[in-house]
Amino acid sequence: MSRAVNAIKAVHDVDLERVLRRLGLYEKLARGELRCAVCGRSLSLENLGGIYKEDGEVKLVCNRIECLAEAARRVSLARQSVRP
Ligand SMILES: [Zn+2]
Repeated sequence: MSRAVNAIKAVHDVDLERVLRRLGLYEKLARGELRCAVCGRSLSLENLGGIYKEDGEVKLVCNRIECLAEAARRVSLARQSVRP
């Protein structure tokens, strides 16, 4: 099974909101329907830490250091294994 992981962006604040709106995730986030891909706690506009793409799916993580570090690790692993 191939595990293609690609970073979309490391984004913050306004950029992040714009990206979320484009992906149609902003409303879900505002309603508390999204969860951190690492620790599983529910996300809000206050605790959203970042966004990345894994297996073609957009993942969100909260703003805990552990979760941001894990997201960064997954993204950097993906960069190393990216095929042309
Ligand atoms: Zn988390």
